[in-house]
Amino acid sequence: MGTGTELGVLDRGVEVRATQLLINNQWVGSVSGKRFETVNPATGDVIGKVAEADAADVNLAVKAARAAFNAGPWPRMSASERGRLLYKLADLIEQNKDELARLETLDNGKPLNDSKAADLPLTIACYRYYAGWADKIQGKTIPVSGPYFTYTRHEPVGVVGQIIPWNFPLLMQAWKLGPALAAGNTVVLKPAEQTPLTALRVGELILEAGFPPGVVNILPGYGPTAGQAIARHMDVDKVAFTGSTEVGHLIMEASAQTNLKRVTLELGGKSPAIVFADADLDYAVENAHFGLFFNQGQCCCAGSRLFVEDKVYDAFVEKSTARAKSRKVGDPFEKGTEQGPQVDDVQFNKVMSYIDAGKKEGAEMMCGGSRVGDRGYFIEPTVFANVEDGMTIAKEEIFGPVMSVMKFSSIDEVVERANATMYGLAAAVWTRDIGKAHAIANRVRAGTVWVNCYDVFDAAAPFGGFKQSGIGRELGEYGLQQYTEVKTVTVRMG
Ligand code: ADP
Repeated sequence: MGTGTELGVLDRGVEVRATQLLINNQWVGSVSGKRFETVNPATGDVIGKVAEADAADVNLAVKAARAAFNAGPWPRMSASERGRLLYKLADLIEQNKDELARLETLDNGKPLNDSKAADLPLTIACYRYYAGWADKIQGKTIPVSGPYFTYTRHEPVGVVGQIIPWNFPLLMQAWKLGPALAAGNTVVLKPAEQTPLTALRVGELILEAGFPPGVVNILPGYGPTAGQAIARHMDVDKVAFTGSTEVGHLIMEASAQTNLKRVTLELGGKSPAIVFADADLDYAVENAHFGLFFNQGQCCCAGSRLFVEDKVYDAFVEKSTARAKSRKVGDPFEKGTEQGPQVDDVQFNKVMSYIDAGKKEGAEMMCGGSRVGDRGYFIEPTVFANVEDGMTIAKEEIFGPVMSVMKFSSIDEVVERANATMYGLAAAVWTRDIGKAHAIANRVRAGTVWVNCYDVFDAAAPFGGFKQSGIGRELGEYGLQQYTEVKTVTVRMG
């Protein structure tokens, strides 16, 4: 494909090859023949065009996945062999990690340092973690009354639709494919329209690893077309979705209106990050900065409601502002860059409108607030102080480099305010007092609580939301359970 970008794709050490749909182990164009552009967010230039899946392509992919599930080698293969294929995929990703990191940075805009230090290692670890589970998925024997022997089998759910977002394209693919494949399901996966390239490159590696036809099908396309077709499909047994709470509602609705397919959702957040006066202040400033600004602020678990105890509030705001001002924004391929562009013009405009709302509603803007440069979608790291709970920037998920700092004075007060949200994805607390740490860990309604740390992810540790931040968990053994059905078998003895 033509590169079509001034940056020069090859200058960046990236070659874009896979641009079609992967159905039944074949690379094919879409039924409609349509293709869509994927853009380099650092320049706004088109990288190239990718085949655009719609309902007809989803039908073909679901057919292939169904055939693979019902009659292909996949269900007959031993569990350890499935694990071996997942290990092989992890090895291939590792062998190509430099290329994948560059492709991720080109398509998403995240700093190459981050792609290399976070996205790739976590992706590889996730596949390896679930590879290890493949032959350890087992039921129980149950002591029932009477002359019966009862046991359970943990069987795959079947054909699984997986719809993923653009903020961690490779990692979200791993969180989805790892447990689904370990448990023996077959998959139709739709990457986000903003970032289809690394998912397709992994598709090539899936073929190289030797997965049987139809086990993994990858369909780039838009949400309301391809995504909706997956969510509404009568022969899809489960949908796993990561994205906005708004679309999460649509996925549930589609399931309810069609075949009651199983639904797991990992949705938005407005996570409270709580700094007590006894915390190591410099460390808390740096860690809270990371918890908000990492990945251009495009994290569902970003610590976007920062509550700081009144005694250290002014000092914290001053230090956080200085840290935000020193954050290095620019070319994501350059060494030392901490922050790249937002993923596209839609997100850029959305974040800028939140900054406007913050100013209009009377929050005090300590730094940032403007675009950086005149091309691409870069935004200055922005810090608002004296933010009040009712302000738009304190209530809505911004998904950008905008920190809101609020003041509190007691544990009861901060717990109540932290919980006054429809979200419940994550929370954090910085303190040297173990009592305060546990008070927050126990009383804040969130799926993950980090104590004196932030964004610590491990393939073994479950992640997911309370309330409207989601349904179900990903990662760990809990994540695996969401990809099995429990079957009870009772045998009359004698
Ligand atoms: P964001 O607003 O951050 O882009 P979305 O929730 O819109 O998040 O997107 C996350 C994923 O959901 C993407 O793969 C997108 O294409 C998909 N998606 C968007 N709308 C729908 C929909 N109506 N049905 C199914 N999938 C959708």
